Amino acid sequence: MGEAQSVSLMADVLTSDQRATLRAFCDTIVPPIDCADDPTGFWARRATDTGVDQYVEGYLATLAADRRADLTMVLDGLAMQDFASAPSDLSREQILTEMNQSSSQAALALEALRSLILLFYYGITDPLTGQNPNWTLLAYPGPLRPPPMTPKELSTIVPNEDLEAQADACVIGSGAGGAVIAAELARRGLSVVVLEAGGYHNEADFAQLELKAYQDLYWRGGPTLSADGNIMLLAGATLGGGTVVNFTNCVRTPDRVRREWANDYRLDGVDGPEFDAHLDAVLARIGATDECSDLNPAQERLVEGCTRLGWKHKRAVRNTDPATYSPDTAGYLSFGDQSGSKRSADKTWLVDALQHGAAILTRTHAQRVLVQNGRAAGVEALYADPTTGKSASITIHAPRVVIAAGALESPALLLRSNIGGPAVGNYLRLHPLPVVTAVHAGDMKNWWGAPHAMICDEFANPDDGYGFLIEGANYAPALAGAATPWTSGRAHKERMADASRGVVTISVLRDRGYGRVAIDPAGEAVITYAITDDLDRKNYCKALDAQLRLGSVTGATAMFAGGAADLPHWRAGDDLEAFSARLHRAPIGPTGLRPFSAHQMGSCRMGPDPWTSVAKPSGELHDTPGVWIGDASAFPTALGVNPMVTIMALARRTATAMAASVHTVDGDAHPVAVR
Ligand SMILES: Cc1cc2nc3c(=O)[nH]c(=O)nc-3n(C[C@H](O)[C@H](O)[C@H](O)COP(=O)(O)OP(=O)(O)OC[C@H]3O[C@@H](n4cnc5c(N)ncnc54)[C@H](O)[C@@H]3O)c2cc1C
Repeated sequence: MGEAQSVSLMADVLTSDQRATLRAFCDTIVPPIDCADDPTGFWARRATDTGVDQYVEGYLATLAADRRADLTMVLDGLAMQDFASAPSDLSREQILTEMNQSSSQAALALEALRSLILLFYYGITDPLTGQNPNWTLLAYPGPLRPPPMTPKELSTIVPNEDLEAQADACVIGSGAGGAVIAAELARRGLSVVVLEAGGYHNEADFAQLELKAYQDLYWRGGPTLSADGNIMLLAGATLGGGTVVNFTNCVRTPDRVRREWANDYRLDGVDGPEFDAHLDAVLARIGATDECSDLNPAQERLVEGCTRLGWKHKRAVRNTDPATYSPDTAGYLSFGDQSGSKRSADKTWLVDALQHGAAILTRTHAQRVLVQNGRAAGVEALYADPTTGKSASITIHAPRVVIAAGALESPALLLRSNIGGPAVGNYLRLHPLPVVTAVHAGDMKNWWGAPHAMICDEFANPDDGYGFLIEGANYAPALAGAATPWTSGRAHKERMADASRGVVTISVLRDRGYGRVAIDPAGEAVITYAITDDLDRKNYCKALDAQLRLGSVTGATAMFAGGAADLPHWRAGDDLEAFSARLHRAPIGPTGLRPFSAHQMGSCRMGPDPWTSVAKPSGELHDTPGVWIGDASAFPTALGVNPMVTIMALARRTATAMAASVHTVDGDAHPVAVR
């Protein structure tokens, strides 16, 4: 969904009626508003003035025919009601409201199109200036400087023809989990091949542009709605995976979760000193420090709110190099870090892996795991580089295969390979994040300093173990446009005009319920997730209330929760309890509150029971020896805190188990010694 500037503007996939309806739709979502004081043209501008309709059509052209038909069907439905020639914005808004209520399918398609229009409207930039005309009023500076000419540190293999190779281990995915396992196995003397579906991007590619970053670095090109429209998903898809785009917040695994995983899921040692050693080693290698956590005005408000309420809070620890860190550019972390100070997997573990002889292929999508005599035998993959148009089949023969494609893709790979057992894809945990924007006086400079520089942990550890952390967020105008509830064109513009004064909070909510990853006939992952668990619903409301309280005690003048149309808006003087009660009644899904997820876990989980888990407590598959789960999908349950450090520590534990395991396969039967 988050398609970027590279979307072709020459696309021609709509009929002339559909195109006219799309133009009218775009200009209903972003209409011109009369305003005497409009020096930047923000109020007078309509969506089609910046060509948003052409970007949307370009995006539709990239979709599979059936997915495109879901969206164009809405345009046909609107055309039947003469939407384009309706007499006023008001009557068009009325038609949209009625269509929204007509069916959940129509509501989902309308919401997808509306989000897309707003994402483009607040994200597309003039190729010459790198600026979007709306950003001046939003006090968003856009790119601060061109990317530096930093050379690429890692050498990767670029196949010129089909390639077949032999290795001791093949690691699929180079993110938080895969990179650690690759480094640890290579360090022990194994020959390792890493296959990464994304490209290799470094400082020289990081333009500090939101849509370009989504296109280059994110899963499915940026924020993507789950198939049921209930939650917006964000994950990294580049060499280094999520660690390249994440906010660098380093949190140790909570003791309670460690005990639960050890006692209920038999992950021996996870509750003791052995796992402490893994955590310590990980934190040391990624340079976790609290020296680079400057507070911007938005985060100062959060600290002030916690202090007034007597809520526990702490400075964030971040994997950042103080020598090269600058708060001036840290706000752009999730678009790739131009300063190079982020100690992401490509700066740490993958460097180690290469130093110990590993080979890395990027733009290489693992299609299936090869199995012989019931054991891992290798991986079949496809190399395809969209920039050169080159492609090649890749076959890696290996007696050890590590699945570390992230919790959204790892189960899809197992399902395509017909291994893993009945639990594959179940128990997908997402930490569904409620979002609240509180508008304050003055510029909150959200683009300055790291998005997570402080953490409120007042609600982290309730008796039942299901709590949440409250944290800040980055300034991403396109995503803010898409996530801000749209009740009318005017109201949406009014809310966006306040963006520079907004303090955005999210809650990392430990979910007890779960969703699912399945595959479609083409073998692509299909993600569904609904908040149906009573405790999760209750905690979602509790987190929203806590976020609202932080806003109200620090003098917010307006507040709203992230989501779709029809959500209420609070203004100073309104009854806060009544507002919160209205939010509690809203559905969580396409027609109401809309959570985000940047933390995906559990979809190939570890555990003792092959019916309810995919891997043994060691990480090796129950049904296919030699295949190991190495990423967040191995978590037995949700974590309740930012997961990177736990993923890395668990991956290090799995690498240790792999190295110690003895399997008699073609002479490759020895435990591997540490070099
Ligand atoms: C915007 C954002 C901010 C975040 N902030 C934080 C934070 O501050 N702190 C924190 O702890 N966590 C944070 N996270 C979460 C954290 O980054 C992820 O949980 C973590 O990176 C997941 O690790 P992983 O190994 O499971 O998968 P990933 O890191 O996602 O790596 C999976 C890799 O596999 C590749 N892949 C997928 N399919 C295939 C295939 N078939 N073949 C080959 N390769 C494949 C993908 O391209 C990807 O690079 C954030 C995430 C996001 C998106």
